[in-house]
Amino acid sequence: MEDKNVVTMEKLVNLCKSRGIIFPGSEIYGGMGNTWDYGPVGVEIKNNIKRAWWKRFVQESDNSFGVDAAILMNPKVWEASGHTASFSDPKMDCKECKSRHRADNLIEAHSKGKVNPDSMTQEEMQAYITEHEVHCPICGKFNWTPIRNFNLMFQTSRGVTDDSTNTIYLRPETAQGEFVNFLNVQRTTRAKVPFGIAQIGKAFRNEITPGNFIFRTIEFEQMEHQWFCKEGTDVEYYEDFKKKAWEFLKDLGFDETHLRFKDHDKLAHYAKCACDIQYLFPIGWSELNGIHNRTNYDLSRHEQYSGKSMQYTDPVTNERYTPFVVEYSIGADRLMLAVLSEAYDEEKLENGETRVVMHFHPSVAAYKCAVLPLQKNLSDKAKEVYNSLRKNFMCAYDEAGSIGKRYRRQDEIGTPYCVTIDFDTLENETVTLRDRDSMEQIRLPISELKDYIENKIKF
Ligand code: ATP
Repeated sequence: MEDKNVVTMEKLVNLCKSRGIIFPGSEIYGGMGNTWDYGPVGVEIKNNIKRAWWKRFVQESDNSFGVDAAILMNPKVWEASGHTASFSDPKMDCKECKSRHRADNLIEAHSKGKVNPDSMTQEEMQAYITEHEVHCPICGKFNWTPIRNFNLMFQTSRGVTDDSTNTIYLRPETAQGEFVNFLNVQRTTRAKVPFGIAQIGKAFRNEITPGNFIFRTIEFEQMEHQWFCKEGTDVEYYEDFKKKAWEFLKDLGFDETHLRFKDHDKLAHYAKCACDIQYLFPIGWSELNGIHNRTNYDLSRHEQYSGKSMQYTDPVTNERYTPFVVEYSIGADRLMLAVLSEAYDEEKLENGETRVVMHFHPSVAAYKCAVLPLQKNLSDKAKEVYNSLRKNFMCAYDEAGSIGKRYRRQDEIGTPYCVTIDFDTLENETVTLRDRDSMEQIRLPISELKDYIENKIKF
């Protein structure tokens, strides 16, 4: 098992800020709590993560189709889904220092993880906090408001007046965009159940306790795949998706000892079974993605609230039924954090220096190679190589500073290959190709570079 102690959240945040991966949101105005902006390197990595996910779960998956639904949906959608009534967390305010907390988090922290608040009612949580005199983690006092449910949906209003009848919501999950388009996708693709609908898009939650860098933010991206299937086949597909979700992470380069399944102790009333894959983040084991057997709850509710039939007719048997849904949902930003954390390494070099290197899967790396002229007077040839390679994949170009420093910069952003142009290049059209992980160098003809790199960066 790779030593995870080397990576801390602080080191990741610092590296991300200094290397153009992720910046604090609205930084020149002092930031805006728990919003983050992806920089030139970060946007490439995140796009590559999303592309890898799409390739695996749409392009290479039988009977899976993508959609890109609107963020703003008819408010009835959220009534049907249950979000208006119950998408809430149990919040408590400290009357002394006015800080706000989640009752379940307070209990978990106080009991050092021994008590599981997920299986407690609100009354039981209240009783635990009173009985154990759980103090405010900020000011240390014990003077709480009672627990209240706090709805996590961001509201806004539509139109030019603030009329409350125009209240609409920023979607708190992408899933509903897939459910409401179930029949549209089925009709236009002529797909037979079982089939899947996938979507990548922004979601918004007014989290009570956001934080831990991009682990929990108020605006984030989700990658969700809903698999519509017949009741009776759902259990098998649920197991199938557990395997697929795990395989995807393994293929992205995750050490399997840093991953584990965790069954939900408390199921949503409609769910038949649910589990998470947890990752060993720098903050400890935490949810990376969820897999849920949602039964036919979602489609039935939309049928009830919209008055439109959401049933499917089997073309062979003519049987009509409302499909079950197996959902696989993963946050793109949370996966990004896991990918960064997994890739981070510090290596002691023979000369005593420490090399920070991101061992990304090459498909995820922002730049697939960096073209580096050994000296500035080789820049014409270097630019020629750079211009031809970047037609095929993202490349970096750097001619500033010693070659050692330039290698180090590329190591820190995880560029898998460095192509060095030297005086021999002018003589024989060959270059040096340095491997990020082994630091070994080979000599290659320029004409072979593109194919060599392309073969290595496939996902
Ligand atoms: P949590 O228990 O961490 O709040 P959840 O169980 O509410 O998460 P889901 O509603 O199942 O999460 O969302 C699916 C995925 O979306 C999560 O596994 C996570 O990767 C991501 N996600 C959820 N909330 C956030 C958030 N506030 N910030 C970043 N990613 C999030």
